[in-house]
Amino acid sequence: MTNSQPATDDHGDLLTNMVREFAAKEIRPIAKELDETERFPVEIYEELGQLGLFGITVPVEMGGSGGSTLDYARVMEELSYGYASVADQCGLVELVSSLLVEFGTEEQRDHYLPGILDGTSRCAYALTEAEAGSDLGNVTTNASKIDGAWVLNGEKIFIHNAPVAEFALVLAVTDKSAGKRGRMSMFLVDTDLPGVAKAYKEHKMGQRASQVGGYVFQNAELPERALLGPEGAGFGAVLHVLEKGRVGIAALALGIHRAAIDASVEYANTRHQFGRPIKDFQGISFKMADMATEYRAARLLVEDAARKTDSGSTDAGPASSVAKLYASEAAVRATSAAVQVHGGSGYIRGVEVERLYRDARITMIYEGTSEVQRLIISRALFK
Ligand SMILES: Cc1cc2nc3c(=O)[nH]c(=O)nc-3n(C[C@H](O)[C@H](O)[C@H](O)COP(=O)(O)OP(=O)(O)OC[C@H]3O[C@@H](n4cnc5c(N)ncnc54)[C@H](O)[C@@H]3O)c2cc1C
Repeated sequence: MTNSQPATDDHGDLLTNMVREFAAKEIRPIAKELDETERFPVEIYEELGQLGLFGITVPVEMGGSGGSTLDYARVMEELSYGYASVADQCGLVELVSSLLVEFGTEEQRDHYLPGILDGTSRCAYALTEAEAGSDLGNVTTNASKIDGAWVLNGEKIFIHNAPVAEFALVLAVTDKSAGKRGRMSMFLVDTDLPGVAKAYKEHKMGQRASQVGGYVFQNAELPERALLGPEGAGFGAVLHVLEKGRVGIAALALGIHRAAIDASVEYANTRHQFGRPIKDFQGISFKMADMATEYRAARLLVEDAARKTDSGSTDAGPASSVAKLYASEAAVRATSAAVQVHGGSGYIRGVEVERLYRDARITMIYEGTSEVQRLIISRALFK
């Protein structure tokens, strides 16, 4: 825990403390092993489910925790302080469950929500394709209605949980002739259906316990009830829920940032050169002052975006992009500085800051790259 941690309200403190203790006891001790082995920690996810840490904002009557986006951000920061891949799983469930809550029929919610909330089943959120990354309007995976069923064809890449998920929320074109806004729909696709194949698992720079892979759909026949929400509403829905997702990733970046500060404080206190602890050198202590300053600034931006999301403010979208842009880039700067504070040790496998540096890097890329966040922020400026 760093001294730069601002106070929170009572409810926030209770939740934060509970997750912090869990992360300290159950997650941090195995982070190094998970990074090395890329193991999917099923036992941790079942415990997260039992603690009600999946689907934080899902209403209680639907089996969730009924929390706010601010609660969600606090949980993400604390889990990520333990290990970012674990927080990432929580973020993924939040995205998919938010869409099930908003667009799902009772039947769809009853079928899919309980398993992902209690951590016994896995979901994926499948938007990206080879030619549709930042430009999601370019998705070509398509679903046609034939004899009352949907026939799905196409390929998705870089999908978190694809190697392990029982079902995926898939964005597909249902009306080629419509404009971007009305062209795509969302589908709940059971991954054991004939015609659905899991592609290879990727090996990544960081967050290595997050399982990432692809899907190939070849004339996969989906029942009519696989359509989530109204036909043609998919593009707008996935972009909207990504706003909450960006608050989550910004908070995940905060957890990595704080872990980098704490590791650096400990190292700078104990490592001696020229007869004194390296914290006595201004070149080191000022670097750490910058890390702490940026952490506090990022945290305020995350809280601002979370509160705006909770209040339904029209500024919630740009605020979540600002938070994600700043917090992710600040985490990359801070983890790079932490490696520097550790000298040669910071470059050695098995030393925490080496992993944190790798874990931070993807936060500038997934759920919208830094460039895409700048596009959203500048568009809001000139609107
Ligand atoms: C570990 C990992 C997990 C992921 N998880 C998921 C997931 O669960 N589900 C999912 O659907 N996707 C997922 N993704 C995909 C991720 O969201 C995309 O990689 C990301 O959106 C960028 O798309 P791209 O890789 O195609 O890059 P591109 O869009 O090709 O971008 C390449 C570069 O060009 C820049 N660029 C592109 N367009 C513009 C523009 N208009 N102006 C300025 N610069 C621009 C980008 O910022 C980037 O720097 C994941 C990716 C990774 C690596």
